[in-house]
Amino acid sequence: MKILVAVKRVVDYNVQIRVKEDGSGVHTENVKMSTNPPDDNAVEESVKLKEAGKVKEVIAISIGEDKAQETIRKALAVGADKGIHVKVDNYVEPLGIAKILKKIVEKEKPDMVFLGKQAIDDDCNQTGQMLAAMLNWPQATFTSKVNLKDKSVEIVREIDEGLETVEVNLPAVVTCDLRLNQPRFASLPNIMKAKKKPMEQLDAKEMGVDLTNRIQQLKVEEPPKRKAGIKVGSVAELVSKLKNEAKVI
Ligand code: AMP
Repeated sequence: MKILVAVKRVVDYNVQIRVKEDGSGVHTENVKMSTNPPDDNAVEESVKLKEAGKVKEVIAISIGEDKAQETIRKALAVGADKGIHVKVDNYVEPLGIAKILKKIVEKEKPDMVFLGKQAIDDDCNQTGQMLAAMLNWPQATFTSKVNLKDKSVEIVREIDEGLETVEVNLPAVVTCDLRLNQPRFASLPNIMKAKKKPMEQLDAKEMGVDLTNRIQQLKVEEPPKRKAGIKVGSVAELVSKLKNEAKVI
């Protein structure tokens, strides 16, 4: 069995995001970049399935500028076997990413594609769903538990009412939630070993896919600053302020 796992390079989740002065986006120069957090869970789950003897090969793919290779190397350092870097020069919307992934799926013929549930930069939550639709494969989204069987995969997903268990036939697209597992850290020897693992390099321009972006971003703005809070001296004062100033009771 073979898993293709999609990893996106994004601004690290600990970084304080700074909006560009002209409102055209956010600063990414000289900013710490990392793997999109749920993509780390997707890699971890793939590697665990391999360690359990249920999966033979894990291929990590990233679509982006040259530096996306760092994200692939990280996946290789925690246990993925091979990397694929598809070079694009500009931001590509989820539809374009899904089209590229489809091409790779047709070539590599994996039994499952693991993705993160959502990228923390564009917050789209679309790529996995679009890929499943284009491949005409079943999809299981927001996965917090995976039970891989011979011809199907049973997954648990968190929904408003509680936990839902679904089983889908393979091949399938699975998007991973942060609660799926605890991603491991790469050890130094494994980081060194990862440098020798194979990484295929492709150029999106040569793949024959239409990557025209369809969404026009009008403006990026900082959220309004929150006003400082106040301390009240008594419950009576609190009730009075809620009633007369905030007018919420
Ligand atoms: P999104 O639909 O943009 O929220 O992204 C959902 C998931 O799709 C991410 O968690 C990644 O697993 C995958 N993905 C999105 N963009 C890329 C990319 N440029 N390269 C690799 N994987 C991606």
